Amino acid sequence: MKNDILKRLRYSLGKDAGAASVQDWRMALSLVLRDQLVDVWLDSARRAEVNASKRVYYLSMEFLIGRLIEDMISNLGLDAAARDAVEALGQDYDMIVHDEPDAALGNGGLGRLAACFMDSLATLGIPAFGYGIRYEHGLFEQSFVDGAQAESPETWLSQRHVWEFERPEVQHRIGFGGHVSRDGGRATWHPDNMVVATGYDTPVVGWQGEWGNTLRLWSAKPVNPFDLESFNRGDYLAASRSEALARTISRVLYPDDTTENGKELRLKQEYFFTAASIMDLMCRHMEEDGDIRALPEHVAIQLNDTHPAIAGPELVRLLVDDHGLAMAEAITLARRCLAYTNHTLLPEALERWPEGLFARVLPRHLEIIREIEAAQQAEFPGSPHILEHGDVCMGELAFVMAHKVNGVSALHTDLVKKTVFAELHRIHPTRIVNQTNGITPRRWLHGCNPALRDLITQQLGDTWVSDLEQLAALKAKRSDTSFIQAFQQAKRSNKVALSNWISETCGVALDPDAMFDVQIKRIHEYKRQLMNLLETVALWNEMRDDPDRDWTPRVKIFGGKAAPGYVLAKQIIHLINDVARVVNADPATKGRLRIVFPPNYNVTMAERLIPAADLSEQISTAGKEASGTGNMKFALNGALTIGTLDGANVEIRDHVGSENFFLFGLTASEVVDRRHQHGFSRAAIEASPRLQRVLGQIFEGRFSPEDPHRHHGLIGMLYDHDHFLVTCDFDSYYDTQRRADVVFQNSRNWASMALMNTASMGWFSSDRTIQGYARDIWQADAPRSALERSA
Ligand SMILES: *Cc1c(COP(=O)(O)O)cnc(C)c1O
Repeated sequence: MKNDILKRLRYSLGKDAGAASVQDWRMALSLVLRDQLVDVWLDSARRAEVNASKRVYYLSMEFLIGRLIEDMISNLGLDAAARDAVEALGQDYDMIVHDEPDAALGNGGLGRLAACFMDSLATLGIPAFGYGIRYEHGLFEQSFVDGAQAESPETWLSQRHVWEFERPEVQHRIGFGGHVSRDGGRATWHPDNMVVATGYDTPVVGWQGEWGNTLRLWSAKPVNPFDLESFNRGDYLAASRSEALARTISRVLYPDDTTENGKELRLKQEYFFTAASIMDLMCRHMEEDGDIRALPEHVAIQLNDTHPAIAGPELVRLLVDDHGLAMAEAITLARRCLAYTNHTLLPEALERWPEGLFARVLPRHLEIIREIEAAQQAEFPGSPHILEHGDVCMGELAFVMAHKVNGVSALHTDLVKKTVFAELHRIHPTRIVNQTNGITPRRWLHGCNPALRDLITQQLGDTWVSDLEQLAALKAKRSDTSFIQAFQQAKRSNKVALSNWISETCGVALDPDAMFDVQIKRIHEYKRQLMNLLETVALWNEMRDDPDRDWTPRVKIFGGKAAPGYVLAKQIIHLINDVARVVNADPATKGRLRIVFPPNYNVTMAERLIPAADLSEQISTAGKEASGTGNMKFALNGALTIGTLDGANVEIRDHVGSENFFLFGLTASEVVDRRHQHGFSRAAIEASPRLQRVLGQIFEGRFSPEDPHRHHGLIGMLYDHDHFLVTCDFDSYYDTQRRADVVFQNSRNWASMALMNTASMGWFSSDRTIQGYARDIWQADAPRSALERSA
């Protein structure tokens, strides 16, 4: 391996060892690893083709991948070999591995789910493609300027992305605009604008390198890169105008994950990658099989949310306009290929596009949507409309064109049936199914937590990595003193490592024996970072009032980005930083309370923080978090959860046991009832002197003396429009936190509860989730060996 690295350094990068930078060494190592992936990858592709396997196509606007190098190393079983080789070359292995920039092609949970699914599909040996967009700029980078969020563009492609293969020969022409002509019965779309989608392939090889799938990301290029005539006239800007316009489509990731803005560019992005993916899979099918009517036997298309919902009309368009099928048959055939995952009940997040915009950008698709709507109304009169109030409703479109629709946790699926799609569910009572989300144990335990991984492997051997339910065997160790000590030691070493990193990045010294209380996720009102912060201020007050009490020392850790246009979320960030500044400077609570907010939360930071957490904050307003996956990562790594009965928290609590979970707050149905009570938030505030005091302090500028009015808006919102019931759940949350304090004082008991969490989380492997999709939705088989291994 050492020689291979030197060879790559020299012949692929053109450097000699003396002149190589950390980045050069990292690239050379990555290229050596990539060579090893390629054999499995090409072999898998060939086997899928020979066996005429059904393939899964996972269409997602986002893939939040993070760094790949450690995945590649450990999935190939080369951990020791890679470290030895790099060290023999006199280089710092950890520094080299950490040099890779995060591929941040996603906002949060939805994109991270897609990345975990790719890992599980490959590990299970299910032939699959992930399809998405190769954004030139991923999610913005966050920094704090005087406590306020500042955004700057992310530039992961400023260095070469070593894992990918450019496929200049994989090209599809994507049209926009224009008009539709008719010749007899046959429609032809004449777009007035074209771009080319080019594929970039990244191999995704599963655990132990037995199977490899492809993540194919599309980049937009101009059809004619360059207008020579303008150039020769000296008009250089005009000469490259078409190039600039085309590239705009794959330029940036929309940084907004729960609200949709009706931007034309966003619609174009959605159509661009969906159409390229559908054309790509159709070409593959026609080459391999040739019978268009056999498509559903060979193709399962999963739509990750409504962003690729245009897949339905696009597939119908190709079937009718290019392959000559009748409309009714095309709709039925397309539906048999398509399935749709719903991720949110928040009404503002369900995509709707103005019909006028649609007519301008996708005229033929609008016609087809009208036909789909007419067919649905003819078959089921009074069915909810796809076209309503001048909008195209993408949720209804996705539902009607899918043979299965799934929610992402038991509670969420239940609410999908009762709320957003209640009427469609009545008409199609077997269409909605549940597939509770999961996380890949390769990244979220084996990779990110070597201390705990080694302890588990000592006990169980290493087959748990692809069969996570084996962790249940650890339950027998809950009263085993020496095992519990080793488990505590693993956590403590992670906390020491995190403390060192926090001290370097935030300049705050932490006590590794304090309770590390962590809330990391997108900043959103429904996730209630604000409630966590109010509780922190209340605790600070109480510590100052009663300095002699035996307080449990706490470190409050926050992390997360706010969408740049989400004003309230940005105010919450500012408030957290303001409170942190005052509290961390207070000698009265030194050693007892610390607040840190390291900027630019991403996958790599999650991998650092989660193994060091004692307490996991999963405190969303019940009924609002579809599933959550952060909650699973923490529990798997031995953190106890303080949480509401929301999303997958419900199922996590069922698995780990109610005695090992700090539950508080209103239930989803209580939330609905409470919202109907007039003046509920003022009543809650009046009933809580503790909360009143905190709100008063913030209102008076106690934490922002240089700008005492800074947080008036937030506090006023809590009095008058507390849509997410922060005030109603506050007391219950505060009391539950104090209960956690008491439990934490008995560190041995805490560790035993934490162990019960780790040992009970096997079901939350994304391997289980993917097996559920394969069985209930895709009817796709894994090759025998992979199925047996995971059985
Ligand atoms: C897991 C993960 C998320 C999702 O977290 P939730 O707590 O489920 O919202 C978001 N961002 C990153 C970087 C993650 O790793």
